[in-house]
Amino acid sequence: MEDERLTIHLRDRPQQLREAKKQGAKIIGYFPGNYVPEEIIYAAGAVPVCLVDGGSAAPAEAALELIPQVSCPFARAQLGERLLKKNPYYEMLDMLVAPLTCQHLKKVAEIWEYLGDMEIFKLGVPHQYYGVPELEYYTDRLKTLQNKMQTLTGNRITNENISNAIGLYNRMRELLKKISLLRRSSPPAISARDFARLNHASFYADPAFMVDFLDSVYQELSQKPPAGAAEAPRLMLVGPNLAKGDYEILELVEAAGGDIVVEEVDEGIRYYWQNIETEGDLLHSLAKGYLQDKLPAAFMRYSSQKRLDFVLKLAEDFNVSGIIWYELLYCETYDNESYFFDQKMGERNIPMLILESGYDEGGTGPMKIRIDAFIELVKGGIK
Ligand code: SF4
Repeated sequence: MEDERLTIHLRDRPQQLREAKKQGAKIIGYFPGNYVPEEIIYAAGAVPVCLVDGGSAAPAEAALELIPQVSCPFARAQLGERLLKKNPYYEMLDMLVAPLTCQHLKKVAEIWEYLGDMEIFKLGVPHQYYGVPELEYYTDRLKTLQNKMQTLTGNRITNENISNAIGLYNRMRELLKKISLLRRSSPPAISARDFARLNHASFYADPAFMVDFLDSVYQELSQKPPAGAAEAPRLMLVGPNLAKGDYEILELVEAAGGDIVVEEVDEGIRYYWQNIETEGDLLHSLAKGYLQDKLPAAFMRYSSQKRLDFVLKLAEDFNVSGIIWYELLYCETYDNESYFFDQKMGERNIPMLILESGYDEGGTGPMKIRIDAFIELVKGGIK
C-alpha cells in the first residue's frame, strides 16, 4: 500500500493547522461515534478534527486525577490527553463539539468544560434513532450547530458550501467502502491494521488530501493480487470502540494466524456504508443520514436487532467464520449487548470470543492466550 505520502502528510498536519490557525482558521474537535456531521464544520471554513486517540495506558491513567476508574479507558484517555498537554490536536482546539451519546464521553466533555479554557458545544442527539419528532429535534440541533459555526468563524454557510462539503465527505465514505469491500477476497486485499490506520487518518488529515490518497490506495489495491495466506480464518471485529493507537488486538489476531476482514465498530471507525443524500434541504439530509440511515449505536433504543442483522449480513458477505467482540472495561452498554450477540451467534454456530481491554499492559498475555485458542477453535470448525 502506498504509505509514505500519508505518513508525511500526517507528520506535517499539526504544523499546517497551527499555520492555518494563525491565519484565522478555527480548529474544531469533536468526540467520535459518527453523530457529528463534519460537513457543517467544514462548510463554515473551519477544520474538523475527530478525537480518536487511545490505546495507551498513560493518558487513561492521567485522567484518574479527575475522574474515577469506572469511566472507560477511552473516555478517560480523552481527558488525559488534555491534562498531559502533549498531543498537538488536543492542544490547538478552538471549540469541542460534544454529542450527547454515551454517558462516559458526556461526562468527560463536562469536565473539559469545568477546566474552563475552551468552549464546549453540546450537540443534542436523541436516544431513539427512528421517529419524526426525533428527526426534527436532531435537525434543529444541527441548525444550532450551523449557527454556532457561522458566529465562531464569521463565515456564512451557504447551500453551496454545505453541498460541496457533503460531496467531499461522500467521496471519502465511498472510497473507504470500496477499499473495505476489497477485503471480501481471500486473502483480503488489505490488512485490518492498514484499513484501521487509513480510517483513523481520515479523521485528522485534510479531507481533500485524504480523498485523493484513498483513491490512489484503491487503484493500487484493486490492480494487484492480494498477498498472504488464503487459508487464515476470516474474522469480524465487533464492539464499541477502536481508537487510533489501539492496535494490539489487531496485531495479536494477525500474529495468531487470523485475518480480521471486516469490522462493525461504533467509535473510532468512520461510518462509510451509506452516503448523505444530496437533494432537498441539506441539513435535513445530514440529520437523516447521521441519525436514521446509518446503523444506530448500542445506546440507541431498540438498536440491538438492527445491529445484529447488520453484523450477520456482513458476516455472510465477507465469508466470516468467527466474531471477536472487543469491548473496553466499564463500557456497560456494549457489555450488556455482548450477551445478546453471544446467544444469537451460538444459535447460528458462529463462534464468538468476548475480549475486554483496560488499555493496561498486564492484559496482553491473557488476551493473547485467549485469541490463540479461539483461532485454533475456528480453524477446527473450518476443516
Ligand atoms: S467504549 Fe463504551 S463507555 Fe467508552 S466511550 Fe465508547 S461507548 Fe462509552
